Amino acid sequence: MIYYCGQIITLAEGLGVINGGAIVVNGDCIVEVGDYDDIKGKFAEEPEKKIDGLVTPGLINLHHHLYSSLARGWNPGVAPESFYEILKNIWWRLDRALSEDEIYYSALIGLIDSIRCGVTTVVDHHSSQTVIDGSLDLVGNAFQESGGRGSICFEISDRNGAIQSLAGLNENIRALQKWRRGDDGLISPMCGLHGSFTLSDSTLEQIASRTGDLNCGYHFHLLEDDCDRKLSVSQFNSPPLDRFIKYGLVNQSTIAAHGLHLDADEIGRLHDTGATLAHCPRSNLNNAVGVINYEEAFGTGLHIGIGTDGMDGNCLSDALIAVLLCKDRTANPNSGFQEVADSLMNINGFAFEKISGQKVGKIYPGYKADFVVWDYDPPTTLDNSNFGAHVFYGLSQARVNSVWVNGRNVYADHQLTTMDEAAIRARCRELSSKLWKRL
Ligand SMILES: [Zn+2]
Repeated sequence: MIYYCGQIITLAEGLGVINGGAIVVNGDCIVEVGDYDDIKGKFAEEPEKKIDGLVTPGLINLHHHLYSSLARGWNPGVAPESFYEILKNIWWRLDRALSEDEIYYSALIGLIDSIRCGVTTVVDHHSSQTVIDGSLDLVGNAFQESGGRGSICFEISDRNGAIQSLAGLNENIRALQKWRRGDDGLISPMCGLHGSFTLSDSTLEQIASRTGDLNCGYHFHLLEDDCDRKLSVSQFNSPPLDRFIKYGLVNQSTIAAHGLHLDADEIGRLHDTGATLAHCPRSNLNNAVGVINYEEAFGTGLHIGIGTDGMDGNCLSDALIAVLLCKDRTANPNSGFQEVADSLMNINGFAFEKISGQKVGKIYPGYKADFVVWDYDPPTTLDNSNFGAHVFYGLSQARVNSVWVNGRNVYADHQLTTMDEAAIRARCRELSSKLWKRL
């Protein structure tokens, strides 16, 4: 199929922005992109479809918690005064209460909201500490049925006892064996861990020994708040990153979320592993834990991507906030823009490729056919020299019109094509009100 587009921001080196361009898709992959007339000459027999609007690659969210979707508007009845209290009184209560139905619908509505924000790949970190066995099938079903791409994992933690911790490890292993890395499907599993401060040495050792030959990436929280360091040192005599490195859980496919309280030496050692840090500034601000000194960490060569950490599906919103925070912290209006653009437009896709073996995030031959059509008629010239400004200041405020994932048109003219969205939203409201009463 040839998609004839007005304007394409390819994010691919050497191609940049194409006016009057076309994308040729074969199955789930892009096979050609370029000038429409050239492509029409080369693929004369191929059917074509016209796309109105600006086209970009699908965005990638490097750290999300789809299980948080039904918490929006819930009043937990307590006012947490620290990050630890936020976890204890809000998220750990929620993740113990979730039923099978609630897990599935949380994931589903979270993915639909992501698609509506132009996000076609979600790296999810799931927690449901009562319904553990089979929970990743429910999340996986939500990906398959909505048509979104991503990574899944289960949050292993000792906070509810050894039985749940072991069940969490088993659930990750089951998913890693079911959806193999490098398969062509929508789901690429990882092994999920909470944070160092809720994981004993024996649990880390068990995770390492049982997943060592599965060739997987690990997805965990790292120094989101300084309590992680204090509790890790007091309970386990070692700071968080040292512990994860000691057990071999930090590899080039690893996603470490946050890293706000990494010191310079730790940033250097994390960089040496090839792992990617997921910067989630809106969540950090929302939890009042501060934000990482992004420009300094980025300057060391550390791979930093962008995620939303359960706030919502809109990682372009996090990218914009990341830029503004850099400018504010450095009191330099030139700071942050190029770096965050690199995080959003290059590093996120590179990190996902290391997790999954799949190329996403660019419109280029060999990449997955994941792309987005925006309701955005540029009010000023948009070309190779300035498309980043249109992405951050224009698309971040624009509506998504249509979305393709894996060659499939999952969202068309502001409507989900894969499922009945209105019925899903109604069911989510029904489930959330019952969930909140139980909580
Ligand atoms: Zn998180």
